[in-house]
Amino acid sequence: MYFDYAATTPPNSEVLKTFEKVNREFWANPHALHRAGVRAETLLEQARRQVLTLFGAESAYRCIFTGGATESNNMAIKGVARQYESRGKHLITSAVEHPSVLGVFQWLEKEGWEVTILPVNAAGCVEPHILQDALRPDTMLVSLMHVNNEIGAINNVEALGRMIKTQSPAFFHVDAAQSVGKIDLSLANSPIDLLTFSAHKFCGLKGSGALLLKNKVQLPPLFHGGGQESGYRSGTADVATAAALAKALRIALEGRATAYQRVCSYKQTIAETFSGIDGTELNGALENSSPFVINYSVRGVRPETILHALEEQDMYISTVSACSAAKTPESSVVLALTGNHERAQTSIRISLSSLTAPEEIDALCATLKPTIESLRFKKKVGRKS
Ligand code: PMP
Repeated sequence: MYFDYAATTPPNSEVLKTFEKVNREFWANPHALHRAGVRAETLLEQARRQVLTLFGAESAYRCIFTGGATESNNMAIKGVARQYESRGKHLITSAVEHPSVLGVFQWLEKEGWEVTILPVNAAGCVEPHILQDALRPDTMLVSLMHVNNEIGAINNVEALGRMIKTQSPAFFHVDAAQSVGKIDLSLANSPIDLLTFSAHKFCGLKGSGALLLKNKVQLPPLFHGGGQESGYRSGTADVATAAALAKALRIALEGRATAYQRVCSYKQTIAETFSGIDGTELNGALENSSPFVINYSVRGVRPETILHALEEQDMYISTVSACSAAKTPESSVVLALTGNHERAQTSIRISLSSLTAPEEIDALCATLKPTIESLRFKKKVGRKS
């Protein structure tokens, strides 16, 4: 039983079929001038148009296919910083961003940009007045995530974006890796200038994502070479991966509203279970947060011990996000919203998807309390003996 869908999801079988079919039948170089190349190019552009249409972004945005959200985040933030350097060197982000955003900001700071890192409230969200106070005439980029990958906090990117647009000349970049296909997000009349996502978070393929950018936004090329992807990302385009991404997105969006409703009830059941376990605290808030991500601190037991005890019962959860798990046992996200090291060192994440079955939630909820209590008991007995 898999409860780590925020780390990744399995590819949908229809998506795999598309990938295979396109690789078999449309493998020609889409930049070649012969008929086979033109057929491949037609498919590539069809996938691009489909992605834009699914976001309501047909006329106002372009779509660059990338190797995933890490690449899209790097491309967007470094690209805007470089391209518009003469407009100002002040950048804003938040304390709970993914490492592929925060790491870029830290690097840019060393390179001479001035960076403001906004704190978040107890729910894990950026408060509009905090952002308002940070905006300056020389702010040229604000980068905020839509949904947090560790606690599920949802930023109101529409309202925050409008504020940015009325009060500064800054571009607005949104990392939507945890929301696309799960939480409602449209780019029709949106204040978002650049949007990042990864296909493997919604049953697409790993190593595949996109950066959507408003027509007016220019970026320096990520790779120099043959000038593919409108010059932004040279290299022979991967038509099959692009077609698979468009397919995964369409399937995810078709089932989104139904999955959302179902997963909301799962989150409620899990929250009720934790409320019956002493020494556990919710990180973030139940309201205005993604039902797909649930995070609790469990006092007195190491999170890896809980992870492995559940694993023994064939249930996979996670501690800090997979991207940070190798580096530190403390969650910088939980620390940012609680200011409490103990809570940040004892957090576990349960993440769900449209594939989660009610029986799995029942099994998990029946297991959590006895598992945690038995681990605490073992620790107490171990200490005495
Ligand atoms: N941003 C967020 C919010 C994420 O959750 C992730 C994946 N954990 C990424 C960016 C990076 O995505 P990828 O590993 O697919 O590049």
